[in-house]
Amino acid sequence: MSYVVVGGGLAGAKAVETLRESGYGGPVTLIGAETVRPYERPPLSKGLLLGNDAPESVFVHAAEWYADHDVDLRLGATATALDRTTRSVRLDNGDEVDYDRLLLATGSTPRPLDVPGGERALLLRTLQDSHRIDEAVTKDSRVVVIGAGWIGLEVAAAARSRGAQVTVVGTSALPLQKILGDEIAQVFADLHRANGTDLRMNAHVAEVTADAVRLTDGTTLPADVVVAGIGVTPNVALAADAGLDVLNGVLVSSRLATSDPAIFAAGDIANIDHPLLGRRLRVEHWDTAVRSGPVAARAMLGEEVVYDRLPFFFTDQYDLGMEYTGSAPADAEVVVRGDLASREFIAFWLVDGKVVAGMNVNTWDVADKIDALIRSGSPADRARLSSPEVDLSELAA
Ligand SMILES: Cc1cc2nc3c(=O)[nH]c(=O)nc-3n(C[C@H](O)[C@H](O)[C@H](O)COP(=O)(O)OP(=O)(O)OC[C@H]3O[C@@H](n4cnc5c(N)ncnc54)[C@H](O)[C@@H]3O)c2cc1C
Repeated sequence: MSYVVVGGGLAGAKAVETLRESGYGGPVTLIGAETVRPYERPPLSKGLLLGNDAPESVFVHAAEWYADHDVDLRLGATATALDRTTRSVRLDNGDEVDYDRLLLATGSTPRPLDVPGGERALLLRTLQDSHRIDEAVTKDSRVVVIGAGWIGLEVAAAARSRGAQVTVVGTSALPLQKILGDEIAQVFADLHRANGTDLRMNAHVAEVTADAVRLTDGTTLPADVVVAGIGVTPNVALAADAGLDVLNGVLVSSRLATSDPAIFAAGDIANIDHPLLGRRLRVEHWDTAVRSGPVAARAMLGEEVVYDRLPFFFTDQYDLGMEYTGSAPADAEVVVRGDLASREFIAFWLVDGKVVAGMNVNTWDVADKIDALIRSGSPADRARLSSPEVDLSELAA
């Protein structure tokens, strides 16, 4: 059996690690378009930009790990086509790599800013992008961040921490509003305003010039550095061109198999038939890459596995650290335990009287309990949910 993984990111790296940890000793190839070995992206907008993390700390494995584990690591190599009949992957350098089982873990690409001058905006996905922002932003910079989502807000916080003058432009009334709903999104708006960021909400960019961002209402925001964080697109062209089922990502079963039983998908691109939620879900977060890569590897090895992990993600912005477990529509009912104003609380989102998501803010070691509570499907007792006196594990009966 020969195992090939396309995509040298987190999901791909964790998959090859699992193949080797399982005791499999045959051929394993990891193909990555970037010229550096797999690394974790969260520090790119946090620890690396803040100067808190050492550059070496971002890598998933030590440089020698791949050779030590006999993984054929092909960096700077892009897979350009799959031949499912001959079971081979064509690379841009002309090589053909044969597989018996193939994992696609090609991740996402940031959406470009589609306005005149939009190409002037820096995007953030790779280590190189992070270095570019790191070099550009100084304490004297006027930084305009376009996009009030996770990446935009993290970059804004990092730039403010350097002393830069920062404006965030977002299209909704509040940052993160479409994800968190009004009440909790307000916490993030307050956090950023309290730290001196100029939030321009309900605003749309018309143009980026050499020294400014112009909004559609005519406002001109002077800018030395423009960063756009306006979402990502999953890299599904390889799968789609090969005729695999693709719809908002690569469609996979709960064991992460695509419509071709020899091909699997994990990480950002996988649109997973989630057994617990009873619907499809594609999640663009670190935890999904870390967890789904190994599940796909075990499925490729023929093990009976199911991916039933609830979505989980985290962010750090200024002195706010949070973890979010589950998945909820932004307009779901919210129950809060703790104090929003002091930014130390747990928010629960309820649908049909049951907790479907929870977010712990500056409150730690509760994510597993929130996970168990959601899984339990227990009817929510709002009074006990909001009472800090009640241990969360008691609610997951
Ligand atoms: C700046 C930043 C901060 C983030 N912060 C957080 C956070 O705080 N919390 C959180 O939960 N998530 C965070 N994320 C999201 C998280 O990093 C991603 O969900 C995760 O990296 C996805 O892993 P992946 O392996 O699916 O894809 P990726 O990490 O995108 O890796 C895919 C790799 O495949 C390569 N590739 C693509 N096509 C090909 C091809 N045809 N041939 C060969 N190689 C190819 C790409 O070049 C890339 O190296 C952040 C992301 C970014 C960019």
